[in-house]
Amino acid sequence: MKKKIIRSFLLLTLLFPLYLSALNIREEMKERKLPSYLIENTAYISLKGLLRIIGAEDSWGNVEDRVFIGYQGTEIKFKVNSTSVMIGQQVFMLDVPVKEVEGEIFIPVDNFNDILSGITPASHVSQEPFFKENKPVKSAKPQNFTILIDPGHGGNDAGAIGHYGLREKEVNLDIARRIRDYLKKESRHNSGVKIYMTREKDVAVSLVERVQMAQDIQADVFFSVHTNSSRDRRPDADGFETYYSVVKEEAVYLPAVSYSEEADTEDEETSTVSRMLEELNTSSAVDESRILADFVQERLAERLLTPDRGTKKRSFYVLKYTPMPAVLTEIGFLCNPNMECNLRDIEVRQAIAEALANGVLDYLKFRDVL
Ligand SMILES: [Zn+2]
Repeated sequence: MKKKIIRSFLLLTLLFPLYLSALNIREEMKERKLPSYLIENTAYISLKGLLRIIGAEDSWGNVEDRVFIGYQGTEIKFKVNSTSVMIGQQVFMLDVPVKEVEGEIFIPVDNFNDILSGITPASHVSQEPFFKENKPVKSAKPQNFTILIDPGHGGNDAGAIGHYGLREKEVNLDIARRIRDYLKKESRHNSGVKIYMTREKDVAVSLVERVQMAQDIQADVFFSVHTNSSRDRRPDADGFETYYSVVKEEAVYLPAVSYSEEADTEDEETSTVSRMLEELNTSSAVDESRILADFVQERLAERLLTPDRGTKKRSFYVLKYTPMPAVLTEIGFLCNPNMECNLRDIEVRQAIAEALANGVLDYLKFRDVL
């Protein structure tokens, strides 16, 4: 078990002075003689340097690769290798990710400067979102936005089975229903948001049918829910992960499903071939899938104490042949008796469902749908 470090995390209890002149990180770096680091042609500042500049040395903390900073009475959260930054309830995207080099965290200077300079002291914060102009420019709110939730397996196909008999297909369906209900409630003010499921009952639905349905209803997001098992059902397998495909294939006639696309037991790292394909295939659906996966994984990490196995690239059939942004989350290992026991608890199921749904909602906000 990795030791988690939570440093003094004072945040909202701190009272900050009410003045705030425009922040200029570059200028401050020069003045304080703080070095700038060039990573892949972008100027970065070390986290320590940034904390000094913004005077937040006593109001930050980190848990593994996640960093929390209390700044001007607002909470800033970000993560190593991720481009999303949460400031209060708002999500902002950096052009390049936060990096970690030899145990030290580095933040892109100019990007972060833009984001931070929009923050006003807490006592002055209005209900308006911070500096809207820094959000990626998107078209006006779409009339309709369709989410297709895909509970894995069903009918004859039970999916993974726990050592004490809990079946994956039941867990997936129950959590998917809870996601649907939560999303409906949270998106009730936008009647254009429609939520469908690939199955509402314990019935068999082939992978081809699932993809077909996503195409037929022209879903904007495809979200598949699974529960994992290691190949030899190891009781110590543990953690949650979210997959996206770096290959999207258009197919008029959907091909038959191969074993490797169907299996959802844990697997080796991405092959060299798919890494090469990844470089060729940079469609926006792939990028958006990665962003959605990041949001979902982030929200799960907030709620679950099990290991964060990260977002992963893998061409599962339902991810590869769905033309829209698509992710598949493995919420935990059913072959782990502890997790199996937890997954019988409806409160745990509800918590997981809400975390997953909040990841989707973050994405909807990012797309300016909500
Ligand atoms: Zn599964």
